Amino acid sequence: MLLHEIAVAAPLPGSLTYSWPLPLPVGCRVLAPLGRRTVVGCVLARLPETEAVPEGIRALAACLDQEPLFPAALIPFFRWMAEYYHHPLGEVIRTALPAGCFTAPESGAAPPKTETVVRLCAPPERLPAVQLKKSEQKTLELFYQHCGGSAVMPRRELTKLYAGAGRALHGLAEAGLITLEERHVLRDPFGEALPFFDRPEQLTEEQAAALDEIITAIDAGRFQPFLLHGVTGCGKTEIYLRAAEHCLAQGRNVLILVPELALASQLEGQFHSRFSGQLALLHSGLTAGERADQWRRILRQEARIALGARSAVFAPFAELGLVIVDEEHEAAYKQDDGLRYNGRDMAVLRAHFAACPVLLGSATPSVGSLHHAGQGKYRLLTLRKRVHDQPLPTVEIVDLKKEKKPGQDWFLSAPLLAALRDNLAKGLQSLLFVNRRGYAAFLLCRACAAVVRCRNCRVSLTLHRDSGKLLCHYCGCTLRADILCPECGSDRLAGLGVGAERVEAEMRRLFPEARVARLDSDAAGSRREQLVLLRQVRDQEVDVLVGTQMAAKGLHFPRMTLVGVIWADSGLGLPDYKAAERSFQLLAQVTGRAGRGEEPGRVIIQTHQPGHYVLEAARRHDCQAVYAQERALRVQLGYPPFGRLINFRFSGAEEETVTTAARTAAELLRTLIGRENLSAELLGPAPAPLAVLNKRHRWQLLLKGPQPDMLHWLCGQLLEKKERICGKRVRLGVDVDPENMM
Ligand SMILES: [Zn+2]
Ligand SMILES: [Zn+2]
Repeated sequence: MLLHEIAVAAPLPGSLTYSWPLPLPVGCRVLAPLGRRTVVGCVLARLPETEAVPEGIRALAACLDQEPLFPAALIPFFRWMAEYYHHPLGEVIRTALPAGCFTAPESGAAPPKTETVVRLCAPPERLPAVQLKKSEQKTLELFYQHCGGSAVMPRRELTKLYAGAGRALHGLAEAGLITLEERHVLRDPFGEALPFFDRPEQLTEEQAAALDEIITAIDAGRFQPFLLHGVTGCGKTEIYLRAAEHCLAQGRNVLILVPELALASQLEGQFHSRFSGQLALLHSGLTAGERADQWRRILRQEARIALGARSAVFAPFAELGLVIVDEEHEAAYKQDDGLRYNGRDMAVLRAHFAACPVLLGSATPSVGSLHHAGQGKYRLLTLRKRVHDQPLPTVEIVDLKKEKKPGQDWFLSAPLLAALRDNLAKGLQSLLFVNRRGYAAFLLCRACAAVVRCRNCRVSLTLHRDSGKLLCHYCGCTLRADILCPECGSDRLAGLGVGAERVEAEMRRLFPEARVARLDSDAAGSRREQLVLLRQVRDQEVDVLVGTQMAAKGLHFPRMTLVGVIWADSGLGLPDYKAAERSFQLLAQVTGRAGRGEEPGRVIIQTHQPGHYVLEAARRHDCQAVYAQERALRVQLGYPPFGRLINFRFSGAEEETVTTAARTAAELLRTLIGRENLSAELLGPAPAPLAVLNKRHRWQLLLKGPQPDMLHWLCGQLLEKKERICGKRVRLGVDVDPENMM
């Protein structure tokens, strides 16, 4: 009998040993007995042969796979994650593998869409040497006129221009002037085939210099993080593409992470244009079958580049030559439940294990990454110029306190109204950004000053006038909007605070001739509805778009020249040490929507805190200023990147048991810190900012300190006593390097 190390899909800290008569390949799934159950597991290693099976070692029930589901090279990565995030190893592997992967029937996958493309083989100067029919001549001429400088064009576009092209193309192919190829079609979020992106002939000087350094690191085959900091439109993507090209030419694989699908679409199109057949896409928009297909293509080395959101960090490449993380500052890289990992950090770790460079790109890098660059841990590559030398939009700050006039809503200042009027007159588009859904933020009783709150979550309910409801944005429960005050029974309830619905209504009232639309999850709940709306904006059927965060990211509308931020203060006041950094990044993103075409852009930010450094930095497009301020604050308070955090969240149905568990845990940690004289600090226990969510009470305990090892040791000590502290009725969630402490 041979012994194998198995990770089972159960909440156990480490791995287990089982026997099996034959050697099993690492990365295959097995059925393993555990207590009285049988669970699925994964083979991690074959252990050295022994004469007899030691006592207590059980035999596996079955081996499920012929071929491994992941390469052995990933196992050290899994082990590291399990230890770092204090998460069961088997659960880490389960998170890594696509859900239902390899259990979904092969036929379940949708066939990829293809189209025929025409590719030019001979350069134009050689053409006169060939005798052509009139129709063939005409087809070629049309090709040159419409191919936009590239050597490739879809056949259907040519036949649309000239009905005789279909037949002529066959003649041209026979003459060896063109080839006809079947190509996979990638569709953009508008449901249309993405355009074919050209490979620009020339790089700018800045691009070339940055690329040079990256290529040197790829060739050296060593771990080297790069922070690629470049203003929007500076051509970061072309650097990604060239670095990937170089890597493939060396016979090595490339992994690219993007924060979410919407942002990815352009990038997807560009990578697809350059690498089509070698590209695997791994994002949440895929069905289980499609995802399994993509996974398999990587395993079989049919795909050499994987592009996807957070979980693509697990792409089963045995070897990697380059890892790229686009928009590295995005909070979306952090998973908020289960295995609470940060895809961006794990991408750096994978590059470390693979001994290859990692490229972190952003227009607004995180404070942490700028700090690492300052320390020399990351090599900073800066792109200051836009490729076509377009200017950045001008940004004006408007003080709402000075703008308030009787009879006028407080949230629309005179400068913003004037700019809107001006833009409408010129036939240009405008975006109004509101960081809140609904009509009014909350309902206040004018008789007793009570705020109407959710019964499950204790947060204030938001008034949605469209649906006539009061809605909890956390648990989704609703009340009718025409209720009486739950405290005193008065009917004098008033909606206060401004949401997207209210801004939209006000726009329609003030500009009845304008075409106004709203983009948020109420107006456009499904992806399809969003796409329809975005297409209307693109086709200029909308003059004013009112949108929430959904409208802040990745949209590219050349005629959108004015962006108004209704109230910039909402994110600044959140009880989170990253509130200022996030607010700046969001403002920079919204600002980036203005003036992406030939017309210059203009941004108006309304606020009650005009002197705030975040707004001033947004006005000057200056992320170093935010970094300097944040650095000073965080050094003083020991917040990341100058210290580390582990957040413990206790939750349960009864407040008392939750509080008791949190207090017991705090006592244990404080005793250990005192006894061992550790430089760690414990904040709390205290109710979480969202103290009750879905009828569950939530308390948290934040561990802070300069040395990560120390924090992890304390966390381990606490988890050893978890059952005694929490019992069955309290859930404990461990969040290492938390991003969201609400
Ligand atoms: Zn009342
Ligand atoms: Zn609720």
